[in-house]
Amino acid sequence: MNEQLLECPICRGKSTLIHIGTRDNSAIDVYRCHDCGTKFLNAANSENDYENGYMYKENRLSDLDIEQRLQLFQRDDIRRFEMVGHICKGKSVLDFGCGFGGFLKQAARVTDSYCGVELGKEERDYLNNNGIRCHKTIEELQEKVDVLTLFHTFEHLSEPRMWLDRFSGYIVQGGYLIVEVPHADDILLSLYESEKFADFTYWSAHIFLYTMKSLSMIIEENGEFDIVSAGQVQRYTIANHLLWLAKGQPGGHEKWDFLDSRELNKAYEDKLRQMQMCDTLFYVLRRK
Ligand SMILES: [Zn+2]
Repeated sequence: MNEQLLECPICRGKSTLIHIGTRDNSAIDVYRCHDCGTKFLNAANSENDYENGYMYKENRLSDLDIEQRLQLFQRDDIRRFEMVGHICKGKSVLDFGCGFGGFLKQAARVTDSYCGVELGKEERDYLNNNGIRCHKTIEELQEKVDVLTLFHTFEHLSEPRMWLDRFSGYIVQGGYLIVEVPHADDILLSLYESEKFADFTYWSAHIFLYTMKSLSMIIEENGEFDIVSAGQVQRYTIANHLLWLAKGQPGGHEKWDFLDSRELNKAYEDKLRQMQMCDTLFYVLRRK
């Protein structure tokens, strides 16, 4: 596609138009930076009504009840807890963009205290009615926390530098910021080049798809955090990828679950990690 003059908002490098339209907005295009590899949109969709169920409408999950939605993401919640449960032990934890609290329910087993921030009203009401403190905005928080988690949230924020700065103000010295975001170089895009997957995954709500280079860059530039670990995780299985490649459809991890063995998934994840083409980036940062 054509060379464009659009400047990368992360590193100011040159970019190329890589995809016309997103799945929900034909007027928003996707660009990829030549230097840092970040994928970004030429305009963010300011219409997204997160407060009134946008995430579930958009993901066609509106028909599911809350327990079914929690069930759907439980695998991620358990994986995240396995990865950072030891950091949360005996600490105060804030999950920013906590949804229906799937991760908080896991973390509650070991934390000293926990709460969430969530724009979605249904989610917030559900949590507060079930004894889990949930705020609408981070500014409502009266105290600093030991651990702040961002699971698939940071990519929705249009001013990442400002937000990193803001988050650092809510974390105690020596506390942790944990960031999980989708990876720009997911193998379905970067090597398999699945057009169907590209049409599906590029979305006006994902304002940035980061690479390790670009995420590390803005963290180092911010200067308030040490990077304790930075790595890649594979959320979706080989069955999911095979269905994308064979039929151009999502859901292979459920439809072709005969391939769903722990050994096979781990071997595939290890290979993707070696190639730096997992679907997810996972950072643990310590506040200086
Ligand atoms: Zn860049």
